[in-house]
Amino acid sequence: HPAFSKLVVLFSLSSGGLVAYSESQSDSGGHGVEINQMEPKKKRVVVLGTGWAGTSFLKDLDFSSYDVQVVSPRNYFAFTPLLPSVTCGTVEARSIVEPIRNIMKKRSGEIQFWEAECLKIDAANKKIFCRSNLNENLVGNNEFLLEYDYLVIAVGAQVNTFNTPGVLEYCHFLKEVEDAQNLRRSVIDCFEKAVLPGLSEEERRANLHFVIVGGGPTGVEFSAELHDYVHEELVKLYPAVKDLVKISMIQSGDHILNSFDERISSFAEQKFQRDGIEVLTGCRVVSVSDKLISMKMKSSKEVSSIPHGLVVWSTGIGSRPVVRDFMEQIGQGHRRVLVTDEWLQVKGCPNVYALGDCATIDQRKIMEDILTIFKAADKDNSGTLTVEEFQDVVQDILIRYPQVDLYLKSKHLAHVTDLLKDSKGNDRNEVDIAGFKLALCQVDSQMKSLPATAQVAAQQGAYLSRCFNHMEQSSSNPEGPLRFTGSGRYQFRPFRYKHFGQFAPLGGEQAAAELPGDWVSIGHSTQWLWYSIYASKQVSWRTRYLVVSDWSRRFILGRDSSRI
Ligand code: FAD
Repeated sequence: HPAFSKLVVLFSLSSGGLVAYSESQSDSGGHGVEINQMEPKKKRVVVLGTGWAGTSFLKDLDFSSYDVQVVSPRNYFAFTPLLPSVTCGTVEARSIVEPIRNIMKKRSGEIQFWEAECLKIDAANKKIFCRSNLNENLVGNNEFLLEYDYLVIAVGAQVNTFNTPGVLEYCHFLKEVEDAQNLRRSVIDCFEKAVLPGLSEEERRANLHFVIVGGGPTGVEFSAELHDYVHEELVKLYPAVKDLVKISMIQSGDHILNSFDERISSFAEQKFQRDGIEVLTGCRVVSVSDKLISMKMKSSKEVSSIPHGLVVWSTGIGSRPVVRDFMEQIGQGHRRVLVTDEWLQVKGCPNVYALGDCATIDQRKIMEDILTIFKAADKDNSGTLTVEEFQDVVQDILIRYPQVDLYLKSKHLAHVTDLLKDSKGNDRNEVDIAGFKLALCQVDSQMKSLPATAQVAAQQGAYLSRCFNHMEQSSSNPEGPLRFTGSGRYQFRPFRYKHFGQFAPLGGEQAAAELPGDWVSIGHSTQWLWYSIYASKQVSWRTRYLVVSDWSRRFILGRDSSRI
């Protein structure tokens, strides 16, 4: 990395204490780093990130077996599902964060935290290069390098602007705690600006036009929060402009919440219509300026612009630069996301693991296994299965690969169930395996990755720590824990995601939930279920207490609208 070629002295901090790295002129005349390091007592695990995946890994890891070092630019864990509530003051920012050192101090063993950002991963030499965002250290620079035996990459993802002009400059994001705090201030700014003297009605309207780009769960939840905030508090404080407020949501797909069950998606659309939240579907934003947002209709290709006071960009995520650079190094540059195997190990990189939003499990292997199961069921090699055989095989697949269920249950299931009917819609007696293969390919394109959610990240962190906790035992006793699969031997069971359902708060004390077993629940009682689950999922009693007391304060006293 260019930043490191100039280093005069680097410091590495390892289990043995502070170890000096001094630069020497190598024989070849180039700049080399002379490494003078004590032999570590235990295997060194470096964890990048203190989000859902990293924290869940640290919470369950047995520190007595490893020397653990954690690197993250933020020294806290943030409960991201409550970020939309922070934007409107329903909960306070400090109520949803827990210092990582608090989490670490509950665990005995060797563990150190460095508030720094990893800039580069050098997998060939098992090193990472980091830079602290704090003041320069004693030797005059804020960069250091760490060596590892195992690296756990859990750096999450960053917002994806799809290179749309003006998005970085003029849009707000809702990814980090700071984003939520900025949004809270900016919403109030829009109201304060709109009531200043000397403005035309048109200007006041423009200032109070809040546009949300992206109709996924985050965009929908923020719109609902904002609507409640405006109607429960701000209209009373700014009565002169209360009729000029408008909230619009721009969605490129045909429906909002399209990863949810259709019943939830259409309930949300109807509720937004009743609440006066405008939903513009089939539109793609082409540029954003300080005053205007321009979009293209997918059907007519017409471009139109609307004035705005504030735009929130919530359209999806992309890889962070450090991960992109690492992907280039290991020959995954052509991929969209870093790919791991089913054990969360980065493909082609032994001892490097990636979990959470920054990685995806290669599903092609699962697809191959599924086809093998089908072929095995076709005992007479006729290329067809009876409907009963077909249903048994599908059941078998759903038990072995629960994540397939997630996608088969969605609209893509239609491709598979269609196979059970002929062109006239009558039930078939037999199912064609080739047809199933075709249907599976269409499902496959949707199956490339698990959803980028806290649920997946936390389960992956917990899974990986279990593997680490048994690593020593299984290597010293290979005949014991080693298991067999159809395709070979492996040390641990592969990671299997268990879906516990998902929520979408829709405002007005109503929420929608999609629960396991195709259960859909919508309404006020679901909102109470949401309160209880989110309170129980808090990472500590401290944050649980703070969040519950913020909710109670909001019920009794309302939200605080000061701009601080
Ligand atoms: P993160 O939680 O983003 O953590 C990444 C960590 O890496 C951070 O600590 C970061 O500081 C650190 N980091 C970044 N760069 C570096 C670097 N270069 N070096 C070292 N460390 C680095 N999911 C749900 O399941 N349910 C929900 O209701 C839900 N609601 C959400 C609402 C919002 C507003 C948002 C933004 C997300 C929501 N999600 C939800 C998604 C969920 O937050 C993510 O899927 C989850 O955070 C992913 O966990 P992670 O550990 O991979 O990444």
